[in-house]
Order: sequence, then C-alpha cells, then structure tokens
Amino acid sequence: MRDKDTEIWEILRSDYPELYGDEAYKNMMLKQYAHARPDVVKGEDEIWAELIKWNPPRFPFRCDTGWNNMVRFASSIIRFHSRGTIPIVFQVKQKLGGLRIYAHNDIKEYDANIQRALHSIEELSFFTCEVCGLVGELRDIDGYLQTLCNDHFEKADKCRTHRHKG
Ligand SMILES: [Zn+2]
Repeated sequence: MRDKDTEIWEILRSDYPELYGDEAYKNMMLKQYAHARPDVVKGEDEIWAELIKWNPPRFPFRCDTGWNNMVRFASSIIRFHSRGTIPIVFQVKQKLGGLRIYAHNDIKEYDANIQRALHSIEELSFFTCEVCGLVGELRDIDGYLQTLCNDHFEKADKCRTHRHKG
C-alpha cells in the first residue's frame, strides 16, 4: 500500500464517513445478512465476527492520485442523490484504464442518477491522466491499459524500454 493511497483513503473516510466509514460498512453488511438470512437468530456482534472472517481488511482504494478530484466529486454525487439508504462505496479502482467506483446499499440497488453519474465519471476518466489529473488518453503499455498524459506516458514508456533492456 502506497502512502498516497492511504492519504486519500483517510480523506475520503473523514469527508464522507457515511460512504466510506467502518460503522456504515458494518451496518450495511449486517442489513444485507439479515435480508439474506432471516432465519438466523444471533446477536449482531456474533454475526459480525463471522462476516469479517470472510471479508478482507477494508481498503477499497486502488488508483493513482490524478483522479482524486473525480473520486471526491463522485462521492458528493452519491451522497446528494441518496434517498434514505446511503450506498456504501466498496471499491474505487482503475480497471482497463478507467475509473470504476462500485457502490451498493443494503438492498443492492440505488438511484438511477448515481448510476448515470458513475458511468459519466468513468467516461471522463478516459480523458484524464491517472497520475496527475491533466488531459490524457488511454494508452497501452505492454498490454497494461492506463490513461495518461503525454509526459506520464513517456515516463511509463521509458520504464518499459528500460525493463526490456534489463
Ligand atoms: Zn500526467
């Protein structure tokens, strides 16, 4: 885990505790469990102890800092459009060069506006350098897709060439 990952993660958790906080996550997981297994009669603490056995440590943030503003913007939209049940953001990551933000609430569906917004932001990420946030485009670096500006693509390309020589 890189330091800058930890930094943005802590900022998100402090600015949007209802989307990223541990307490919100726990509540959502317990609600989901209650929904899926209405037959189980156990205390919440006992259920939670079992649930966390199956879930890896919660650190769902995996993308570079050039997209931080977009992640914050997406978080504001999610919060704004949440009606009643606020969805938990359970993953923020770079996938095939684009910014994917996955969220769900206890009933596994959320406002259509949120879905549209997350889709739009993903589209926009294909024009935004993941490293610095300036204008970029989708690049193919030895089969690894990443959206980068010219400068960062050049640097990534140099690293690649260097690797190949080594
Ligand atoms: Zn860049």
